[in-house]
Amino acid sequence: MSDYREQIAEHLKFFGELGVAGYRKDADWAARREQSPVVSGQSSVISGQSSVEGREPGAQSLEPGGIESLSAIREDIGECVRCKLCTLGRKQIVFGVGNPNADLMFVGEAPGRDEDVQGIPFVGRAGQKLTQIIEAIGLKREDVYIANVIKCRPPENRNPEPDEVEQCEPFLFRQVDTIKPKVIVALGTFAAKSLLKSTDSISRLRGRVFDYRGAKLVPTFHPAFLLRNPSCRREVWEDMKRVRALLNGEDVA
Ligand code: URA
Repeated sequence: MSDYREQIAEHLKFFGELGVAGYRKDADWAARREQSPVVSGQSSVISGQSSVEGREPGAQSLEPGGIESLSAIREDIGECVRCKLCTLGRKQIVFGVGNPNADLMFVGEAPGRDEDVQGIPFVGRAGQKLTQIIEAIGLKREDVYIANVIKCRPPENRNPEPDEVEQCEPFLFRQVDTIKPKVIVALGTFAAKSLLKSTDSISRLRGRVFDYRGAKLVPTFHPAFLLRNPSCRREVWEDMKRVRALLNGEDVA
């Protein structure tokens, strides 16, 4: 079988897993696969925080135009000892990966074991599911940017603690402000609640679109949760259709 046919078979299998029957034959959809997403939509519900004059405290090394580079942010993190995670067995800092000019950014919770070993976010089983989700909307992993709220692995994959979030999230804010994505997908309860400073569960937050640091933020279930609860794939697919529409400049309520 040719690569092309294998890819189509793979996509149809995943769409099937998501509970989507049939496929779209319009040329427009095929063409969109080849392009980076363009204009953002206008819907909003709640405003996210914004930094003073669009920059986080500590932001340095500005490039022409006033935007700092991702490498300057990484350099600033250094061999971080700002919180106790540096003494609790983390192997390395997992900064983020992908297209620095991405229109679409995914934010997860914190690195797990595989990510801690490889230094790259979402490379384990949940990462494979995330890659499928990205491909289901016609993009490749290299088209998007992927990061976490916390850059070091918490021991035994426990939830990050408030002091850890407080130390680490300014770096994520700086990554967002540098990349300037049009759409951010918050993956799971922890990322959605942290970014939106909300106490609502992911079940209450998903299905809506939020304004967040100049982007549209779409909360959805974490891919690891989806692996354990495949019945939630339809909701994830609904969220991803919302993301695709926002990337295409459509109005999404
Ligand atoms: N889960 C996350 O939230 N982030 C990762 O990078 C991997 C698993």
